[in-house]
Amino acid sequence: MNRVTAPMWEPQAETLPREVLVQRTLEGMRRTLARALTKAAWRRRLGSVAPDDIDGLEEWARLPFLTKEELRDAYPFGLACVQPRRVVRVHMSSGTTGNPIVNPYSRGDVEQWAAVMARCYLAAGVGRRDVVQITPSFGLFTGGFGFHYGAERIGAMVVPTGAGRTSLQLTLMRDLGTTVLAAISTYPLRLIEVARAEGFDLRSLKLRVAILGSEMWSDGLRRYIERELSVTTFDIIGMTETGGPGLGIDCPAREGIHVWEDHYFCEIVDPATGASRADGEEGELVISTLTREGLPLIRYRTHDLTRVVSREPCACGRTHLRLDRLHGRTDDMVVFRGVNFYPRQVESLLLKHAGAGPEYQLVLDRPPGGSDRLTLLLEAAEGFGESGLGRLKGELRQRLHLSPEITLLKEGELPRAPGKAVRVVDRRQAGE
Ligand SMILES: [Zn+2]
Repeated sequence: MNRVTAPMWEPQAETLPREVLVQRTLEGMRRTLARALTKAAWRRRLGSVAPDDIDGLEEWARLPFLTKEELRDAYPFGLACVQPRRVVRVHMSSGTTGNPIVNPYSRGDVEQWAAVMARCYLAAGVGRRDVVQITPSFGLFTGGFGFHYGAERIGAMVVPTGAGRTSLQLTLMRDLGTTVLAAISTYPLRLIEVARAEGFDLRSLKLRVAILGSEMWSDGLRRYIERELSVTTFDIIGMTETGGPGLGIDCPAREGIHVWEDHYFCEIVDPATGASRADGEEGELVISTLTREGLPLIRYRTHDLTRVVSREPCACGRTHLRLDRLHGRTDDMVVFRGVNFYPRQVESLLLKHAGAGPEYQLVLDRPPGGSDRLTLLLEAAEGFGESGLGRLKGELRQRLHLSPEITLLKEGELPRAPGKAVRVVDRRQAGE
């Protein structure tokens, strides 16, 4: 194993031996359960269980799962475990249907958030000499503030630009000597595109690290961003429910995403049956929080698909378990004429073809009287042409068993979403 040295924010906590991590996990579970049981809504959900019943990880696995729907139904504070006067902040998910999921933060939760984010920055090799430009929005979305607290904690210089105004972002990046870009995963594509359109020289930047998350991004997209922006990227995970970004991040060894096990407990389960999956097998990520106060999570179904890569110490020195990069979500799997696939698989394949992508959109519809149709709208460079198209069709058919109609577009023709990229448009149910 090649040692990859990078400083740690909390070296002792980040290198605990496995048996100590398991001990901490059990203590955290009992604490979390005790906290939840103070609320009638949680007691109704959990039935007759006491914190002392949890003397092994298998007892935890007997507790019921917590679902997104339950958190939505609890809007706004139905499952909150702090007194309203002790809530210092709320963040909420940007769900497109139904109530948003509200996370009430105690003072301790904001502290916890800053601490795990500080760990993430150091894992990405970022320190107090860095200039961190924070491009996710500051608001109800957790992105902006999470990156902000962590960067403040490590003593870096913060440029809190928030979302949008890409042209200005580039200018500030150059003029202020930004070294670290914090962004949602597809935002670098905007930066690259605007730089091209405006003749902005990306080589005039001092960027060296990009910490990206909040959307699925393929290894192909990762390579593209690293090449175009001359940066090393780090994949950060987390969601409103867990308290924002900072649940985990990959490290210079790049052999999986470390999840901070003294704060969070991970399980991987069969998305259909909920049965536990062994290490190495892919399934749905289930998260329990061990230190959060406002909205503790007990076996929360995240819908994210991944697997446990390793529980062995990593080349970076950290001992916390590693998950694979998220492969997709149980709810973004596309089923088309009996074939299942994830948008990320299409993206990976596209980016292997010079001149194709990275902008694309998959449109599913059902023409009147016809059968289901899949169209791939693909931005391609001028030289891509018929031969490129032929090779791409062949690979889509061979590797993913897909034969979409492909419409080639000029660069810039697809609409750009202001936030997360829209990769799939499914019109089959709407009858459009
Ligand atoms: Zn590592």
